[in-house]
Amino acid sequence: MKTRFHTVQDLASVLESENLPLGGYLVAREAFIQGKTADEVNAELDRRIQITRAALDRGLSAPQLSFSGLTRGNAVRLAAPEKAIVTDPFYTRAIAYALAVAEVNACGGRVISFPTAGSCGIVPGTLWAFRDTRPSGEEIDDARFREAFLVASCVGILIAERATLAGAEGGCQAECGAAGAMAAAGLASLCGCAFGAIFDAAALSLKNSLGLACDPVAGLVEVPCVKRNAFLAANALTAVSLELAGVTSVIPFDEVVTALKAIGDSLPANLRENAQGGLAVTPTGLSYREKIRDPRPEAPAGV
Ligand code: SF4
Repeated sequence: MKTRFHTVQDLASVLESENLPLGGYLVAREAFIQGKTADEVNAELDRRIQITRAALDRGLSAPQLSFSGLTRGNAVRLAAPEKAIVTDPFYTRAIAYALAVAEVNACGGRVISFPTAGSCGIVPGTLWAFRDTRPSGEEIDDARFREAFLVASCVGILIAERATLAGAEGGCQAECGAAGAMAAAGLASLCGCAFGAIFDAAALSLKNSLGLACDPVAGLVEVPCVKRNAFLAANALTAVSLELAGVTSVIPFDEVVTALKAIGDSLPANLRENAQGGLAVTPTGLSYREKIRDPRPEAPAGV
């Protein structure tokens, strides 16, 4: 079985030669690589998908408060806001779910890297929100849901093959940006989009993340990472809304990946996860760095 593909065109050729649809090929490929049956692959996928569910449930059921004080239970706040400007249940859940999973990660909870821990809320947040808000009669079964996660992963493979999924190498465009593209593809798959439209939705989302710096405050995966998960979930929703309306990407997905790689290579080192630039060196960012370095309470006056 052919297991390597570098571009969308490559992938299309592999599907043709293997005579398999995208979802079927991705399961067969995993089974081949891991020496497992398709049923075993599907069972493992279901197990991981349920871990994402447990993470988002945890993040919404109680405020997640990190040791640094940078993560403050905002998912709970966002899930039941006192005021809201957009009230569509899919949108509101997508951003709250994405934030919830990312907060659980920031607090040391169990998540699935998707594609990284810092960007772990974007794909599951988006896909679970879509599934949870389908009207009666339009429910999404496990097989279709699993396939959406695989399609999202396939976009991650394509980005990893020709660029990177590491913020330390390509900036946050390669982590949260990639996750947004993966979520858009998964969502497009759930919406019944054809092969070309799935990758076009991914291109639309990824284009809107190019150049995103990686500048975590105090070197922790919290600011801007956690809230960025909510923003990139919204990005994925916008990409699929555009795609469904027939608003396609002028630049094809593979060329967007080429651009991501070039931009990542030209990013200065201080915007690639070493916390030496951008938000990390703002006065507030630096004050957190100092506090976290020396968390001892101040001595009472006069002692
Ligand atoms: S800002 Fe950096 S550390 Fe945070 S999610 Fe993005 S790539 Fe990861």
